[in-house]
Amino acid sequence: MSNFFEAKVLTVHHWTDRLFSFTCTRDPGFRYQSGQFTMIGLNVDGRPLMRAYSMVSPHYEETLEFLSIKVADGPLTSRLQHIQPGDAVLVGRKASGTLLTQNLLPGRTLYLLGTGTGLAPFMSMIRDPEVYEQFEKVVLVHGCRQVAELAYAGLITTELPRNEWFGEQVARQLVYYPTVTRESFRHQGRIPTLLETGQLCREAGLPALDPAHDRFMLCGSPAMLKDTRALLDKLGLAEGNMSHPGHYVIERAFVDK
Ligand SMILES: Cc1cc2nc3c(=O)[nH]c(=O)nc-3n(C[C@H](O)[C@H](O)[C@H](O)COP(=O)(O)OP(=O)(O)OC[C@H]3O[C@@H](n4cnc5c(N)ncnc54)[C@H](O)[C@@H]3O)c2cc1C
Repeated sequence: MSNFFEAKVLTVHHWTDRLFSFTCTRDPGFRYQSGQFTMIGLNVDGRPLMRAYSMVSPHYEETLEFLSIKVADGPLTSRLQHIQPGDAVLVGRKASGTLLTQNLLPGRTLYLLGTGTGLAPFMSMIRDPEVYEQFEKVVLVHGCRQVAELAYAGLITTELPRNEWFGEQVARQLVYYPTVTRESFRHQGRIPTLLETGQLCREAGLPALDPAHDRFMLCGSPAMLKDTRALLDKLGLAEGNMSHPGHYVIERAFVDK
């Protein structure tokens, strides 16, 4: 059996000239956990051209959803950005990744810190009722340059609290904190700075960071990951992994070449 299955594109949504998302069919045998990624791609000149992508869709959804950057000269996304409903995309059969609640020590508040397409794995997590069983509060922080890049803001604030299945948990437990760096907006600034100065906790009505109770998942640009990790380390927090759960886990949103 091939390592990939062929999925049919169902819908495509362009958020900005740098960002789009799409849904596609799901092979019934493809299983994943909230927060994981797989390889997706296109057949180019008869060969699969694949890149890592986090699943935006919750693990129980019948279809798959992905959020993608458009890199003008990127081997994959210069092509992928032109897909239309009915087109074929390749999806890897194996999901992996470190953004799993089992890699974290038990805690009260789960901070999901994402920049740009680093939001993607957290979109599956905030629609997983089990996450709300494990943590009292789930704080989703999405950092972007511009307001238009705050993908899924409407779904998070309007649709999720009305969800028949877990809407009540969302309304009670989810705190959404979008922030931008290059436009004026109700929340402004980089995630590490907002955490270090206490601005994020103050504005979101949360207690100051507390290593005893707070757990973190990070997915974003190399600069955000580096600076946030340094801050968490300074607070005495330890990174978790499959063999040793810790206070925080990290996934790269992309690799800078
Ligand atoms: C674990 C993991 C999960 C990922 N999940 C996603 C995802 O959900 N959505 C997504 O769009 N990408 C994701 N990526 C990045 C993705 O794998 C590709 O790099 C991206 O699709 C661009 O592919 P490309 O072939 O067009 O360009 P590449 O040659 O892969 O990248 C060219 C350059 O573009 C920049 N770049 C690449 N990806 C991004 C990005 N996402 N945001 C900002 N700049 C970027 C980098 O500077 C990179 O050097 C993930 C990467 C990793 C390692």
